Amino acid sequence: MKLKQTLIFLIAFVVAPVWFAHAQKSRSALPRVHIFTTGGTIAGQERSDGSGGYDAGKLAIDAILDSVPEIREFARVKGKAVAQIGSQDMNDKVWLVIAREVQAALARRDITGVVITHGTDTLEETAFFLDHVIASNKPVVMVGSMRPATSRSADGPINLHNAIRLAASPEARGRGCLVVMNDIIHSARDVVKMHTTRVDTFQSPNTGAVGHFFKNKPVFWNQPGRRALRFNIRQRNKLPRVEIVYAHANMTELMIDAAVSGKAAGIVVAGVGNGNLSAPAMAALDRARASGVTIVRSSRVGAGRVDRNVEINDDAKGFIAAGMLNPQKARILLILALTRTKDLKEIQKFFFAR
Ligand code: GLU
Repeated sequence: MKLKQTLIFLIAFVVAPVWFAHAQKSRSALPRVHIFTTGGTIAGQERSDGSGGYDAGKLAIDAILDSVPEIREFARVKGKAVAQIGSQDMNDKVWLVIAREVQAALARRDITGVVITHGTDTLEETAFFLDHVIASNKPVVMVGSMRPATSRSADGPINLHNAIRLAASPEARGRGCLVVMNDIIHSARDVVKMHTTRVDTFQSPNTGAVGHFFKNKPVFWNQPGRRALRFNIRQRNKLPRVEIVYAHANMTELMIDAAVSGKAAGIVVAGVGNGNLSAPAMAALDRARASGVTIVRSSRVGAGRVDRNVEINDDAKGFIAAGMLNPQKARILLILALTRTKDLKEIQKFFFAR
């Protein structure tokens, strides 16, 4: 009996406190990751009307984190909701909020990296934007999911797990904004959503992915494209408006004229082939340029480079060639460029910088 009492005493007052203190200490040694949620399918909730459909961006942060309880073994994660939207509604205002929140989190010495959960529709655009405005070597990782949490083989939990591991890993430092989906790691510069429904929708058509997850660890194959180009938008509460006009057979002047009368500061043409467009549309583009709108020629093709002066004399017309950027990324770079300058040579340098 005495022995039993002594044992209980020892466990209660010696072993348990020591074990507890040790557990606390080893937890506080774990990397700290901040997660910002914005909505999308990764925060999707099945509709209760039996339609099998779901609403994007409904779940709160805790419910999202609860889907991956094992993260507590390798990171201390804290979260904040910055928006609850489908990413088709992503806009400049939310971008500026995200940029500010991410920058402030990364400035904290105790934060190792950040994760941003996002709908997949415009995920690559937010990634590209952050890649150009965040000043830090710490990992910035964006993630989403193609299937809602309630579906069979939901991809959200594994994607989130990988994203937190990536944000916590020293190997991800200095690589700019990364996107991880379906076990593959992409650079913000090249990643594109290329399929409407598949879990392998994200691809990097020009340069290939930069790495993957193997045995729960990120392995990098490539260094992402350059990160030297950075725009300081901290004081801004508005960004210049740039429209994309999509080229096609029988294209008229209509959409370009509409962008000009809507007072766009810039127009990105998603041209055919090497950024080409029909004669009537070209005449409208010349008029747009003459009225002071900054013009970038990109391509609707999906991969490859749009170069200067190939079929169109950009020097004579005062146009900019998008280089390797697709129309949606060219739009963001033009927005950021216009916050700094209207000089065409300078803007062209931004587009050709790697
Ligand atoms: N359209 C929604 C969005 O982009 C849901 C799609 C998704 O997240 O995959 O937020």
